[in-house]
Amino acid sequence: MDKNLVFENTPIFIPETSDSALLNLEREIPIFIGAHFVYCRKNVFKQLKEIAKPLIIDPVSYYNFQEAKAPETFKKLPYYLEEEPKTLYSNESYRTNNFINPCIEFQLDNYSDIIIAPYLFSPETDDTKFSTNLTILAQSISYLKNNNIKKPLFASIHIGNNFLNRPSTINSVIGRYYTDFKDSIDGYIITINGLDPRKAELEQLKTLTNLVFQLSKDKLVLLKQMGPFGEVLSAIGSAGYINSLLYGEFSEIEKPGGFGSGIHSRILIPELFIFVDNETVRKIGYKCECISCKNIHNLTDYARRSIHSYLRRSEVLEQMVNLNRIQRINFLLEKIKKAEKLISNYDLKYGLSLTKVCSFLYSWKSLLEWSKQLNYVEEGLEFEEELLKKLEEDNND
Ligand SMILES: [Zn+2]
Repeated sequence: MDKNLVFENTPIFIPETSDSALLNLEREIPIFIGAHFVYCRKNVFKQLKEIAKPLIIDPVSYYNFQEAKAPETFKKLPYYLEEEPKTLYSNESYRTNNFINPCIEFQLDNYSDIIIAPYLFSPETDDTKFSTNLTILAQSISYLKNNNIKKPLFASIHIGNNFLNRPSTINSVIGRYYTDFKDSIDGYIITINGLDPRKAELEQLKTLTNLVFQLSKDKLVLLKQMGPFGEVLSAIGSAGYINSLLYGEFSEIEKPGGFGSGIHSRILIPELFIFVDNETVRKIGYKCECISCKNIHNLTDYARRSIHSYLRRSEVLEQMVNLNRIQRINFLLEKIKKAEKLISNYDLKYGLSLTKVCSFLYSWKSLLEWSKQLNYVEEGLEFEEELLKKLEEDNND
């Protein structure tokens, strides 16, 4: 499938949502929703389905991982597995009948415009689940082929952040996920468990960036739950990012939801790349002209804050649509430089300590500058060698 047929424009911001806030916009919006909400929020889902373009149902099949603390609503799904059974890895007919087929059929029955191959969370790239995911992906491809289903197929790469400390392991991710399946899938959704891009080392971010960049050669790559770092990767090569509107700035499989972080009572200030509390909003006299805020500076309304997040995040990516890669990178570098200026002004004027909170912007800037020299490397043996060479050179810099 031509990758341009999946989304009208890229990069695109795709809100992960399961409530009614965005319905207020009364227009078509891309929607990403967890499969368990299709069941437990039937009425809202019915309405979201009407405005969704495209509708993407995440099978959230990683909840079949024993440490994941699956919500009760997930246990109602037809592919919920009581425990993580060895038979899933070894028995093909069990895997097909109890996991793969019901998971794909659930997405089809509920009109998902994109099919996400069932997947498990793999803490490491040498974990059994990593190789099982590849088998599942191959079987999912066969399922769509045998049933003549023409919907785009995405592979979800949901892995632990340890691999970011070993740059050479991205070879195995690219080798397995790109080289082996490049003719059969349309894109990737990447979630890195435990990665907070605001706290990560620059070297870790470089490894992730390289992975995203190489996979995006002729595929759509979407990042999930990386907060505004999604903007950085969208400038570098990804097709966009998926994020909740008021929380979920990073992924932690043992603490699903992220509501405990308190971020849901805060307001996104896209100019600063962060969420702040009401008091800070008042102090700095923040005004937003979006149709949800209309310059009212105290945003306590949940729905209005959600719409604000959606509109402002989409707007940033829309500004990149017609730019080439280097222009996108420069655009984002400018946005960060403006943020840094604002932040130091606010700190001086109002006695805040935003500079400390936003210190990650410095390493994001370095990353963007570094990424300008990235090139797609050739596949096969040469590909791996070239990539290794490149990474060694970078490490020696
Ligand atoms: Zn606003």
